[in-house]
Amino acid sequence: MKTYDFITSTSEETIQFAERLGRLLQPGDVLTLEGDLGAGKTTFTKGLALGLEIKRIVNSPTFTIIKEYHGRLPLYHMDVYRVSDEGEDLGFDEYFDGEGVTVIEWAHLIGEQLPVSRLDIHLYHEPDNRRRLVFKPKGSRYEQLCEEFFHEDLSN
Ligand code: ADP
Ligand code: MG
Repeated sequence: MKTYDFITSTSEETIQFAERLGRLLQPGDVLTLEGDLGAGKTTFTKGLALGLEIKRIVNSPTFTIIKEYHGRLPLYHMDVYRVSDEGEDLGFDEYFDGEGVTVIEWAHLIGEQLPVSRLDIHLYHEPDNRRRLVFKPKGSRYEQLCEEFFHEDLSN
């Protein structure tokens, strides 16, 4: 399976990179974000929100599990860190099947409930504030999205 890598040196770079991805997202897209605490999952989501033309500030939904924002498309931002039971059904399907874009931090914690077709993104700490972002598309929609995204002129 093809994967895609990108390194950022600052949180601003992570935001800009995610913003560019956010501009390409379509209704029903599902993205998972994995990585240690402080890896940049919420920071990445802030960038996605910019790309979706969301004006409100995006903050971590750790305590509410799901926050919804409205821009060019709705954004359903989930942080399932506090979901204690992997199989606990909190109505996730309605979001996955909805008209918005779903972004799930710590998605493996609800692994059984995730749609098969999705874009998995892993953020890794590297020295000096750098982060390595690794994209693993699952299914043709996300394979095409990654091809388009990673072949765009990076100077945009
Ligand atoms: P998570 O949601 O994964 O727990 P956050 O996005 O909340 O992580 O926090 C990431 C922290 O790391 C922020 O304080 C951010 O400013 C900082 N940071 C430093 N360098 C980077 C980078 N290259 N990319 C993303 N965040 C970075
Ligand atoms: Mg977070």
